[in-house]
Amino acid sequence: MLDLILRHCNLPDGRRDVDIGIQGDRIAVVEPACPAQAAQEIDAAGQLVSAPFVDAHFHMDATLSHGLPRVNQSGTLLEGIALWGELKPQLTQEALVERALAYCDWAVAKGLLAIRTHVDVCDPRLLAVEALLHVRERIKPYLDLQLVAFPQDGVLRSPGALAQLRRALDMGVDVVGGIPHFERTMADGASSVRILCEEAAQRGLRVDMHCDESDDPLSRHIETLACEAQRLGLQGRVAGSHLTSMHSMDNYYVSKLLPLMHEAGVAAIANPLINITLQGRHDTYPKRRGMTRVPELLAAGVPVAFGHDCVMDPWYSLGSGDMLEVAHMGLHVAQMTSQQAMRQCFEAVTTTPAAILGLEGHGLQPGCWADLVLLQAADPIEAIRLRATRLMVMRRGCIVAQTPPATATLHLPGRPAQVSHRWPACH
Ligand SMILES: [Zn+2]
Repeated sequence: MLDLILRHCNLPDGRRDVDIGIQGDRIAVVEPACPAQAAQEIDAAGQLVSAPFVDAHFHMDATLSHGLPRVNQSGTLLEGIALWGELKPQLTQEALVERALAYCDWAVAKGLLAIRTHVDVCDPRLLAVEALLHVRERIKPYLDLQLVAFPQDGVLRSPGALAQLRRALDMGVDVVGGIPHFERTMADGASSVRILCEEAAQRGLRVDMHCDESDDPLSRHIETLACEAQRLGLQGRVAGSHLTSMHSMDNYYVSKLLPLMHEAGVAAIANPLINITLQGRHDTYPKRRGMTRVPELLAAGVPVAFGHDCVMDPWYSLGSGDMLEVAHMGLHVAQMTSQQAMRQCFEAVTTTPAAILGLEGHGLQPGCWADLVLLQAADPIEAIRLRATRLMVMRRGCIVAQTPPATATLHLPGRPAQVSHRWPACH
C-alpha cells in the first residue's frame, strides 16, 4: 500500500500515461498502469509531471529591492553595481530576511524548489551572508538554497574582500564565487580566478564565477577558469556564469575554447533575461544579443543551465520566480526552436542545473525525493509556450502549493464558454 499515486502522468522524457507511486518522502515506483493501491490518488489526466525547477544563478540578497534607493537609469550592469553599492550600507538583516522569504514563497508557488544564490561578501559586516544563512535553514523543509560567496566589487579590487570571502566560507557558505572581469586588469582577473579556485580546491568546494560578463571579445577569463579547473582536479565542480563575451568572440578562438571547457568539465550558466537586457548597451545597430553561445556549448558537450539572476533589483525591474519565463527567453534569444532544442531549454531549468548544483535525489526515478510539479501542459514544449500554470507542487511527498487552472470565460455567441490556450499536442 503506497501513500500516494499520481495516475496518467506525462513525463518530460516523452513517456506518456505513466503512474508515479510515492511512499513517504520518496518516489517508489514509476510505471504504466501501476497495480498498487494507495491511500490517496491524484489524476494528472495526461498533463506533464516534472521534477522541480532549479535556478542555477540568482541574487537573493538583492531581490525585491527595486527602487531602493533609486532606479537604474542607464540600464547597464555598471550602474546596477554602483546602485547596489549605494544600497548596501542601508541594508538591515530584518529587511533582507523578509524579502528573501517573500521571494521563496513566490518560488515555491512556481515549482522552483532549489536555488543557487550568490551572496555579496564585500561588506565587512557580512550582513547578507548572515541573513541568507538564516534563510537557508529556515526554508530547508521546502526549498534547497545553495549559497555562493560572491565578491561583487572584486576579490582583489575591494580591500578586505578575500578575508571576508574566507570568513563567509567558514560560516557555512557552500560555493566559491568570483568576478574576474570586474578586477582592475585582465591580469588581476586571471589572478583572482587562480586564488579562488585554489581556495575551493583546498576546502573541497564547488566554484561558480561570474565570468566575462561583458561585450568585450577579448575577455579571456573562462579560458583561465577551465585551465584552473583542470590543474586543480575540479572537473565537474566548476561553473562559469554569464560568459556573455563569448557572444562577441572570434569564431576561431571559440572553436578552441569549447573543447577546452568540455575537457575541463566546466559547466555554463546563461541568464537570458538579464543578458538580453544588460548586454549590447554600448552598441548602436546592429545591436548584439549578448547571451553566450548556448547551442554550440551544448553541441560541444558542455552542460548549460539557464538562471533567473535577478528579480526586481538594481539590475532588473521585472521577474516573478518563473523558470519557464527564463526558458522561454533563452529559447528565443538562442533561436533554439527545433523540437529537440526546445526540450533542451526545459532541461536547462530542471535537470541540468540540478546536476550543476550537485543536488541529491532530484529526478523522477524510483528512489528520488518525492518532489514534483504538475503542470497544465502536455509536454515540456507546451509548458514553455504557455509558461504553464503549476497546478500542484509537491515536496517530500506533501503538497506545498496549488494554483487553479488558467482558463478564461468567453462571452462570444457560438463559441466555447471557456478557453485555456491549450491545443492537442502536435509534437
Ligand atoms: Zn549574477
